[in-house]
Amino acid sequence: MQGQSLLHRGLSESVLEAIGDTPLIEVEEGIYAKLEYLNPSGSIKARIAKYIVEKAEREGLLLPGHTIVEATSGNTGNAFSMVAAIKGYRMVVLMPEGLSTERVAISRAFGAHIEHVGEFYVTEALKRARELGKKEGYFCPAQFDSEWNVEENREWLGKEILGQLEEGGVGAPDALVMGVGTGGTLIGVGQAFREKNAEAKLIAVEPEESCTLLCGESGVHKIEGISDGFVPGIYERHAERLGVDEVYAVGSEEALGAMRWLARRRGLFVGPSSGANLVAARRLKEAHPELKSIVTLFCDEGEKYISEHFAGEGRTLETGERA
Ligand code: PMP
Repeated sequence: MQGQSLLHRGLSESVLEAIGDTPLIEVEEGIYAKLEYLNPSGSIKARIAKYIVEKAEREGLLLPGHTIVEATSGNTGNAFSMVAAIKGYRMVVLMPEGLSTERVAISRAFGAHIEHVGEFYVTEALKRARELGKKEGYFCPAQFDSEWNVEENREWLGKEILGQLEEGGVGAPDALVMGVGTGGTLIGVGQAFREKNAEAKLIAVEPEESCTLLCGESGVHKIEGISDGFVPGIYERHAERLGVDEVYAVGSEEALGAMRWLARRRGLFVGPSSGANLVAARRLKEAHPELKSIVTLFCDEGEKYISEHFAGEGRTLETGERA
């Protein structure tokens, strides 16, 4: 009961308690950004890692001595590796070659075992994770298909944003703009928004170079964390039923320009998908000036992309300048 007595004194038991309660800021007039990159492990994925691990423990699917295995383009691996480190599970991260070296290093730092499977897309890694997950002593969270991913985003992240908008006097949100990786955030937070405002617009975002949702074709792009090379199960099951209004395709270079702008003009050191979300939110505002509160999310921290996007001299000057 050491934990309880610590909590009683206003202290925390572990860094897991620092997940969530991230700031929501008005990044531009009428565009509100949820700063999910401030979560421990540096991304939005800390929430599903904590939520899914604790639910699996309660349901008896994850027991002491077990190994967690997940396919990921990086952030989910970092997040589950952190949670596994705290709770004493072994962690195996299956990820494709060719993603940011920082995210590999972060999972390693948390003590995870990394295996590279396939190139750029997680498709091959996914197959391996599913196979391993069926073995005795393994648990695979299956982020691309799991209803627990949707549930967390609706009940925790979605309701947290609604509470902040209410408290800040903004009221019910008019729209949500979010890049699709697993689709868990768009669908789960979207469900929470629609419960509050049935008219809320839901906009999915994907890279122009990999318009899997719009044109069924995947390609190489620079917006890591979204468009993993296939339509995820969560999106397939929910997008039509929930009524996703539109898919916006954003070019990689435009997303990177917006990412740099966010650091230089707003002090927000975030990754490319945050830039893509901002570009799409601006586009929605231009198309629909009547929307007074557009919510988007800044999903991971710029630190994870230093070697890729911030280290080269001169490259940081291409800001896609906008005052
Ligand atoms: N941005 C980044 C940086 C991510 O890591 C992810 C998750 N892969 C997303 C956006 C998309 O989130 P979701 O999986 O909930 O669609």
